[in-house]
Amino acid sequence: HIGLVWFRADLRVVDNTALFIAAEQCDQLIALYVSTPMQWHEHHVAPIQVDLLRRRLPILQQQLEALGIPLIFKEVADFEQIPQTLLEVSSKHGVSHVFCNKQYEWNELQRDDKTGHRLAQEQVKFSVFDDSCVIAPGKVQTQKGEAFKVFTPFRREWLKQFRALSPTPLPIPEPVENPVVVDEPGQITVTYPSSDSMAWPVEEETIRQRLVTFCYEKVEDYHQQRDIPAIDGTSCLSPYLALGMLSPRQCIAVLMAVSPMCLDAPESGAFSWLNEIIWREFYRHLLVAYPDLCRGQPFQSWTQNVQWQQSSELLSAWQHGLTGFPIVDAAMRQLNQTGWMHNRLRMITASFLTKDLLIHWQAGEQWFMSKLIDGDFASNNGGWQWAASTGTDAQPYFRVFNPTTQGERFDPKGEFIRTWLHELKDVPDKYIHQPHLWPGSEQIHYPKPIVDHKQARLLAISSFKIAKEAQ
Ligand code: FAD
Repeated sequence: HIGLVWFRADLRVVDNTALFIAAEQCDQLIALYVSTPMQWHEHHVAPIQVDLLRRRLPILQQQLEALGIPLIFKEVADFEQIPQTLLEVSSKHGVSHVFCNKQYEWNELQRDDKTGHRLAQEQVKFSVFDDSCVIAPGKVQTQKGEAFKVFTPFRREWLKQFRALSPTPLPIPEPVENPVVVDEPGQITVTYPSSDSMAWPVEEETIRQRLVTFCYEKVEDYHQQRDIPAIDGTSCLSPYLALGMLSPRQCIAVLMAVSPMCLDAPESGAFSWLNEIIWREFYRHLLVAYPDLCRGQPFQSWTQNVQWQQSSELLSAWQHGLTGFPIVDAAMRQLNQTGWMHNRLRMITASFLTKDLLIHWQAGEQWFMSKLIDGDFASNNGGWQWAASTGTDAQPYFRVFNPTTQGERFDPKGEFIRTWLHELKDVPDKYIHQPHLWPGSEQIHYPKPIVDHKQARLLAISSFKIAKEAQ
């Protein structure tokens, strides 16, 4: 019988659970990708991320072709039209079973529920598989069967299960013996504002090589280098993980091959990298346990009482890298120009928006999503709520990053700052984090700090304190 594999955020043929199981169960297969531009607009998906997807789809099509699986491309406005589209494609090609990998965000879950019901009315089976995490969301629980609210105990339990399971990637399925012939696969033309993601290769082998090179050459020093934005010390694999061009199991398989003892070496670079992959899993587990996170709610409900400031001017200064705090501005310009930002800088800029400017974390979450090539709802929402102290962080709300000392610590000579703020190229190292204090500052076109950090910090702390006391 004929099966259909519906690709979404899992754009690969290796270690793809739905594809692998479909190939085991069906004699013949077709594949489908449905682009939904209006939905992406609503979700603030960045044009650069869609461009990456646009460049990846033809490669996926070729890979599937080699397996005897034609990839059909369709475009509709939004998720509302998905059930009907799936039904039409299934009827046209005599499909009796649709396979796909789960997406855990609320709208995506609703879409799949509706699609499953609609298909069932026409006797088409619909199977959804856990795939995008090493350990499926919902599986890492406390002894009472509840979700973990804090990362460290989550990680302990995750590691316990990981040792017991030792998950390995699934192979590419064998080619289908008798491929379905499709007369109109549909031209791959994704309608979305244009952007250029060419700095990010999309070929299978190049992505794999990036992973292998990182694990062989850089992971050992990861824990020492990961916080320095001027150093290329992290894997830069997040755009691929976000669109599923690479799976976390593939990442861990290579990591374990290179550093087999890392689970017992918590001080090592390899463990530190694994730790970040576990953060990714933690945030996905949270989405499943707390679906309200997808509906704009803070994890700590009392933080709804915080009186955020409304200022389109301050927000715009942050968005465009014009705050007068060089590390913040350099980071924002890097984001706006490249679709990428280093993790340490995501934390600094998010803290600055939510604590120094006391602007609602959702404004930052949305701006990041609309710019990031690796935009991922769970990690972005988790990161923003962590920085804003509205999330799961064990640290209390009075942690407020000082943007000047953060710059001094993580970009001591201002190398990163000078790469992105050309106007500061002649400022001496001594003043690079506070150029307004440089006697020559009149010669440069760079704003003075838009807030006084000391005062802003006190205001943020007292606003959170008032909100907490009002709960
Ligand atoms: P590496 O350091 O090499 O880490 C390996 C992988 O682990 C990453 O590719 C990523 O998938 C995962 N990872 C690393 N750090 C984190 C983390 N803190 N939380 C969750 N997963 C992590 N990550 C996204 O993928 N998409 C986002 O939209 C996103 N938004 C963020 C917003 C804020 C405010 C913050 C503080 C963090 C955000 N992150 C997001 C997490 C993190 O900044 C990026 O995953 C990381 O910078 C990607 O670089 P890398 O691939 O070199 O990571």
